[in-house]
Amino acid sequence: MTDMNGIYVGGRWRQGASTIENRNPSDLTDVIGQFGQASAADLDEALIVARKAQAEWWAAGVQKRHDVLMAIGTELMARSAEIGRLLSREEGKPLAEGTGEVYRAGQFFTYFAAEVLRLHGDLAESVRPGIEIDVRREPVGTVAIISPWNFPVATPAWKIAPALAFGNAVVWKPANATPASAVALTEIISRQDIPVGLFNLVTGPGAEVGQRLVESTAVDAISFTGSVPVGRGVAASAISTMPKLQMEMGSKNPFLVMDDADLDLAVAHVTNAAFGGTGQKCTAASRVIVHERIHDVFVERLVASAQGLRVGHALEDGTQIGPVVSQSQLDKNLEYIRIGQEEGAELLCGGQRLERPTDGFYMAPAVFAGTSNDMRINREEMFAPVTCVIKAGGYEEALSVANDSEFGLTAGIMTRSLARASHFRANMRAGCVMVNLPTAGTDYHVPFGGRGASSYGPREQGSYAAEFYTTVKTAYVAAGAPE
Ligand code: NAD
Repeated sequence: MTDMNGIYVGGRWRQGASTIENRNPSDLTDVIGQFGQASAADLDEALIVARKAQAEWWAAGVQKRHDVLMAIGTELMARSAEIGRLLSREEGKPLAEGTGEVYRAGQFFTYFAAEVLRLHGDLAESVRPGIEIDVRREPVGTVAIISPWNFPVATPAWKIAPALAFGNAVVWKPANATPASAVALTEIISRQDIPVGLFNLVTGPGAEVGQRLVESTAVDAISFTGSVPVGRGVAASAISTMPKLQMEMGSKNPFLVMDDADLDLAVAHVTNAAFGGTGQKCTAASRVIVHERIHDVFVERLVASAQGLRVGHALEDGTQIGPVVSQSQLDKNLEYIRIGQEEGAELLCGGQRLERPTDGFYMAPAVFAGTSNDMRINREEMFAPVTCVIKAGGYEEALSVANDSEFGLTAGIMTRSLARASHFRANMRAGCVMVNLPTAGTDYHVPFGGRGASSYGPREQGSYAAEFYTTVKTAYVAAGAPE
C-alpha cells in the first residue's frame, strides 16, 4: 500500500492502523488496492488539529475561502473523466454516471465558492435607544462528515463544500466500500493552501471509527447520510454531547402514473428512476402507483423496458445498469425477492443473479406487480434494482397510498392534468416532488432533503445549507455619546 491510499490527518498522508482490500464489483479479479483504516489515536489527533486549523481558516477571510473552493471545484470538473472512471470501477455505476457524478461534485464546490461571498448578516434597531444590533453567521466549528458509498464523491462534496465555505474544519469518515473515491477527493483538497489539519480523512469501519467520531466531545456538528438504522444510532449516540445534527437517510419513494399520463414518457421515467444506478439511489422510485385504467398496458410496457436494459461491466460501452455494490447487498436484494414472492407479489421479470464474462455482482432488474402497500417490499428500503407496482382506483387513492409511508424523501407524478399536478405538489408529504420527471435527478443549487424517517435536521445544499454549517451570533453595541 502506498501512503496515498491511506488516511489524511494533520496535513499528512499516513497508512493507518490496518488495511482493507478494495475490489471491483464488475470484476472480482480486479483489485483496486489496499486502503488504510484509521485507529482511534488517528481520529483523536484529527479532532485536535481540526480545532486549531478552524480558527486560522476563519481568520483567513472570504477571498481565500472562495479561491480554495473554486480551485477544488475546477479541478474536479477538469478531471471528471479520470476520477469518474475510478469511481465507476469501485462502485459499479456505468462510466457516464461516474463521470457525471464527479463533474457534479465540482459544481458543488464552485457553487459554494460563490456562497462564501454571499454571507450577509442583518442589522436591527434596538428597543433601547443608543444600542445597535447586528446578527452575523459564524462557523459551527469542527464538522464530522459521515457518507455512504452510493454517491462516493458527490455526497461528501455537497457536505465538505459548504462546511469549508462557511469557515469550518472537517473530519470525514467515508464508507469503506468506496475508499478510492475518498482518497481521490482528499488528494485534491490536500494540495490546496489551507491550514494544516483543516481537512482530515479518517477511513474505517462505521461501528468503530464512525462511532468514536459521533461520540466525541470535540465534534460541533455531524452531517450524516446513510441508512435509517445507522442514522438513528448515530443520533442517539450523539445526543449526549448535543452537536448540531443533519441526517439524510432512507426512502421508499412513490411514483404515481395517472390515466392521463404520456405513457411513453412514463415508462421511460419510471425505468430511469427505478433502475438507474442499479436502484441504489435514495431517490429511486420503489413504489410505482398506477391508475387502474392504464395499469395493465403500463405494466406490460414497464416489464419490456426493464428486460431491455443492458446489465454489464460498469466500464464497458453500452452498459446501462452496472452490478450491485457488494456480495452482502446482492444477498440482501435476493432475500427481498424471496420475501416479495412469499408475501404474494407477482414477480414479472428479473430478480435473479446474472452471469457475465467477468465475475461480478450482477442482478436482473426486477418488477413486482400485484403488490399492496402493507407488504414488506413496499415498506422497507431495499436499495436494489427492484420496483413494486401498486394498482390504485384513482388519483385520491394513489396519493393516499403514496403518503402512507414512514419515509418522505422524493415523490413523482406523471399526469397531463394541471389540477392533479398542483394538488400533488401541495399534498404529497415529501421533501422533493417531481411532476412529469423521474423521482431521481436533482439540481445542485437548491435544497435537498426529506421528511419523516428520511431526514432529520436542517436541509442540505443551496443557500439553505447555511442553516446547518453556521451558527448565528447577535451582537448588542452601545456606542456611547461622542466626546
Ligand atoms: P450505512 O448506513 O450502512 O452507512 C453510512 C455511513 O455510516 C458509512 O460511512 C458507515 O461506515 C457509517 N457508519 C456505520 N455505522 C456507524 C456508526 N455506528 N457510527 C457512525 N457511523 C457509522 O449506509 P450505506 O449502506 O453506506 O448507504 C446506503 C444508505 O444511504 C441507504 O439507506 C440510502 O437511502 C442512504 N442514502 C441516503 C441519501 C439521502 O440523501 N437521503 C443519499 C444517499 C444514500
